Amino acid sequence: MGIMEKMRLDGKKIFVTGGARGIGKSIAYAVAEAGADVAIVDIDIEEAKKTAQRIAEDTGRRTIAVKADVTNPQEVDEMIETILEQFDRIDAAFCNAGICINAPAEEMTFEQWKKVIDINLTGVFLTAQAAGKVMIRQGGGSIINTASMSAHIVNVPQPQCAYNASKAGVIQLTKSLAVEWAMKGVRVNCISPGYIGTDLIMNSPSLKPLIEKWEEMSPLHRLGKPEELQAIAVYLAGDASQFTTGSDFVIDGAFTCI
Ligand code: NDP
Repeated sequence: MGIMEKMRLDGKKIFVTGGARGIGKSIAYAVAEAGADVAIVDIDIEEAKKTAQRIAEDTGRRTIAVKADVTNPQEVDEMIETILEQFDRIDAAFCNAGICINAPAEEMTFEQWKKVIDINLTGVFLTAQAAGKVMIRQGGGSIINTASMSAHIVNVPQPQCAYNASKAGVIQLTKSLAVEWAMKGVRVNCISPGYIGTDLIMNSPSLKPLIEKWEEMSPLHRLGKPEELQAIAVYLAGDASQFTTGSDFVIDGAFTCI
């Protein structure tokens, strides 16, 4: 089989958490364009439905929208059940939902800390665990977690210790699962994006004013676009990446190089 054929995802069943908008939406589009049926999982079910419908219209693939809060184990289990009812199997799972809260460490409330860790780290664990169980039973699958360049560097000037710690946790969780599940046929990798122009940044009153500063700091002098993460997502979801597990892919326009 040639490489371009291996990059196809025809017939695969894939879900994306945080798939309603931003990076998750872009990943969902990409895997559907490559031939997969996609479940858009999000806490915002109205937006998830719109995204699912648009992707189905544009790609001709089957899509469903599923509501789940990734911090709630029961909702995650129900989300997996719904996907299995509709799709029968899960070939790839993108554990992508995440948030950022900025607060100086000495002022960060317990609630702020807990919310970020719950969604960004515990949410990834719960989702990967639930998907992993299905994939082990099936004899294989690919899990792709969204970490961040913030797992590698400390972003400035904004204070975001909980976010940075949560994302560093995602990388080590990814590696741990990759080793535990290697012989069970389940591959686990993560993507660490640099600054990407999504609602997370554009709709945040505290982050938006910093964009110019980040662009100045970046070797490419611009933010990344969600679609610039699509190729790595398709590669990791499919059969072209059979020997790739336990890896973290930093896609940041060289931001962490300097
Ligand atoms: P967005 O805010 O654009 O999209 C995130 C989506 O996840 C939203 O639809 C959001 O819903 C949903 N979501 C939030 N909380 C939950 C939850 N508990 N359960 C289910 N869904 C939830 O973010 P991005 O697309 O920018 O970010 C996606 C991932 O990429 C995150 O993990 C983020 O940390 C990471 N990332 C982003 C970077 C960037 O520069 N944008 C850089 C590096 C990493 P709602 O809007 O209703 O809260």
